[in-house]
Amino acid sequence: VPLVLTEFLDRAVSLYGDKQAVYCDSRVFTYRELNGRVNQLSHGLSDLGVVKGDRVAYLAPNTVEMLEGFYGVFQLGAIMVPINIRLTPQDYLFILNHSESKVLFVDQDFYHLIQPIKDKLETVEHIIVHYKEAETNETVYDEWLARHSTASFDRAGLDENDVCSLLYTSGTTGNPKGVMLTHRNNYLHALSTMHHLRVSDSDVYLHVLPMFHVNGWGAPFYYTANGATHICLRKATPESIFKALEVHKVSVLAMAPTVLNSLLQFYEKNVPVIDQDVRVVIAGSAPPPAFVTRVEKELGWEFIQVYGMTEATPLSLISRIRSQLSHLSLKEQYGLKAKAGNPMIGSDVRVINENGIEVTHDGKEIGEVVVRSHGVMKGYWKNEAATMEAIRNGWLHTGDMGTVNEHEYIDIVDRKKDIIISGGENISSIEVEGALYEHPGIMEAAVIAVPHEKWGETPHAFVVLRENQKVSEEEIIAFSREKLAHFKAVTSVTFVNELPKTGSGKIQKVHLRNEYWNARG
Ligand code: ATP
Ligand code: MG
Repeated sequence: VPLVLTEFLDRAVSLYGDKQAVYCDSRVFTYRELNGRVNQLSHGLSDLGVVKGDRVAYLAPNTVEMLEGFYGVFQLGAIMVPINIRLTPQDYLFILNHSESKVLFVDQDFYHLIQPIKDKLETVEHIIVHYKEAETNETVYDEWLARHSTASFDRAGLDENDVCSLLYTSGTTGNPKGVMLTHRNNYLHALSTMHHLRVSDSDVYLHVLPMFHVNGWGAPFYYTANGATHICLRKATPESIFKALEVHKVSVLAMAPTVLNSLLQFYEKNVPVIDQDVRVVIAGSAPPPAFVTRVEKELGWEFIQVYGMTEATPLSLISRIRSQLSHLSLKEQYGLKAKAGNPMIGSDVRVINENGIEVTHDGKEIGEVVVRSHGVMKGYWKNEAATMEAIRNGWLHTGDMGTVNEHEYIDIVDRKKDIIISGGENISSIEVEGALYEHPGIMEAAVIAVPHEKWGETPHAFVVLRENQKVSEEEIIAFSREKLAHFKAVTSVTFVNELPKTGSGKIQKVHLRNEYWNARG
């Protein structure tokens, strides 16, 4: 049997056909109904001339239309290209032309971003708009869908090594790259993830992470395969998240640390009394250690840290769940969960030094994290040189630096590009940020390297203060000296109202570096 993703929805329909599959904007669909819409979508795309290997782009927030896009596109053997909703028309022009997409589905709220570039789209033949309030002459999705049959679709011969998605990276460090993932990549990654997260048919998953980003991209697979329920949230704000937890009895949610931070802040300010059933919250992208403790103690949710990247489908490391750590004290548990975690099933993750030799497993020696797994991408779309640079001798070179301890826990120290080298010592910008997050007046912090006459480089912090808080640069410097070895302390601070973030909620240090230099002429 080829390992293809369409099997996951088939399984849900046959075992859980009448169960609630998805809730979105007050609409509810069972798995059977969802499958009917998926079939309509495949028939519709087929009528438009979409065939195996064609690219179908999506510009949409978390909606049922987005969710059904996955399976509707896959049945044709076509390739889904999900696009970040927080980019500019210029970016959309680049991605749509670069991916050579044939059809574009766009949510009404984002249509105005496509209008200005419509004439410059080189390959897009059809634009279909989700929802109908937008003022447009384009085809309206619901009406178009209704014209097609819900009967099962005669699938293209799918092979597990067929590419099914072209996901663009976050663009945290530069221009986004198109990552080609196959059915096999996603299928095996889903099996491994659903095991580690103990996903079951009683789960109710709240889509906070965007499905257009690789972190949220996998959820349509592992929750569907298990007949769990999807709750789609168009706009994730602390208010809308807390409301959804209560209304839908959400059991699992996952989010970027920046969103988790706003949730924690909102909770601490309002202490909403909610009747909720959350069992676990998952976060990647370097959550500060203080968040682990706050989530577990204040919200009472189990915290799981994951590490991944688009190029690995994405996850390679996961922290152990509570029941596996019960022999340790709470403090030790939090300490381990503040590290990225252990290799997941099917992932071989190593940390190697400059000579390609594994670092010592004592948590001290720093090296580059390399991954060999079922999730490693087929390559970058139309960029052979970058693919050869990233995958060498079968190992994906992540560009992230880490350490390994005696429990095989890998700690991500920093991105190679973000490490601060001060007086010959490596300083992790993540570690310095982690210390700053312990300050009660600080809402957000990001640390970059800046030149220093004596030490070469030192840490400079960009800080967003909490509402009505007055904290001076001197106080922050002193606080960081108290919390960290002195050579790691920040030497200067810029106060800002907000930090630049990618669509997946990551802080873009490239922009902060530019800001730092622009401010200094
Ligand atoms: P681009 O490659 O376009 O610059 P990006 O690397 O941010 O963007 P993603 O694939 O979304 O794009 O993110 C992967 C990166 O996120 C990893 O390489 C790593 O630097 C960071 N990351 C993910 N999880 C963690 C974690 N648990 N701890 C520390 N860093 C993490
Ligand atoms: Mg990257």
